[in-house]
Amino acid sequence: MKLYISFDMEGISGVVDWDQATGAGRDYEIGVGLTLDEINAAIDGAVAGGATEIVVNDSHWKMRNIDPSDLHGSASYISGSHKPMYMMQGLDESFDMVFFVGYHGAISGESSVLSHTYNPSVFYKVELNGVEVGESGINALVASAHGVPIGLVTGDSITKEQAKAVIPAEMVVVKESISRFAAYNLHPRVAHKLIYEAAANVMARAKSWPKVELGEVCELTMHFLNSDLAELATWIKGVSRSGLRSATVTSQDHLSVYQAFVGVSYITRQAGGR
Ligand SMILES: [Zn+2]
Repeated sequence: MKLYISFDMEGISGVVDWDQATGAGRDYEIGVGLTLDEINAAIDGAVAGGATEIVVNDSHWKMRNIDPSDLHGSASYISGSHKPMYMMQGLDESFDMVFFVGYHGAISGESSVLSHTYNPSVFYKVELNGVEVGESGINALVASAHGVPIGLVTGDSITKEQAKAVIPAEMVVVKESISRFAAYNLHPRVAHKLIYEAAANVMARAKSWPKVELGEVCELTMHFLNSDLAELATWIKGVSRSGLRSATVTSQDHLSVYQAFVGVSYITRQAGGR
């Protein structure tokens, strides 16, 4: 059985600050180590549950955070920037299950460690068919397009609540956010045990695990920090202005909705954050 893992860092137990998630130095090294250990816990569990081929997509920051030789399960590693399918690069119909490891809260939601939705300098809220979603919900479009179930999501309790709204997955909570920069973190070994057990359980049930049901037509509405960004978004094919600071893309082709979002994310990055 083939497993696809998309990982982020902000939802890893022990990670609470950008210094641990971006940049160089001891804080970042600790963050990377904690992240790698949670990914490996997920891989080990998945292998125990029957996974035979694993692909890990680095979805965080520069998307080349770990040393691939440290990955368990002889996992392949998709890394580097300018990936057209971004946090979901490499997923296709050949996979049996998707895991989201180290995911974090949406920018529009309750306080959640390092919360954002792709780019906090651009988006302040994203809605999928009228439901506020974070990165897990947006990325679910790709899993839906390929008909691959999402079996596991790990992160803080806010991430769990937001993911639960659209994804029928096993949720492992590894920390409780106190603020956007503070959390009550489980000891890594405890987090690893929870992740391992959940991964083994869902992987063993991959063939019958419920798929993401987003409905036939998907409408993704992006709310921006300013109207310039909303106007820029309409430069992407299929995206139209839906308000002073919002733009929408609607399609039966869930992959094209995600691709439009990635396009918006890229061009607004050039204009935003100043
Ligand atoms: Zn990230």
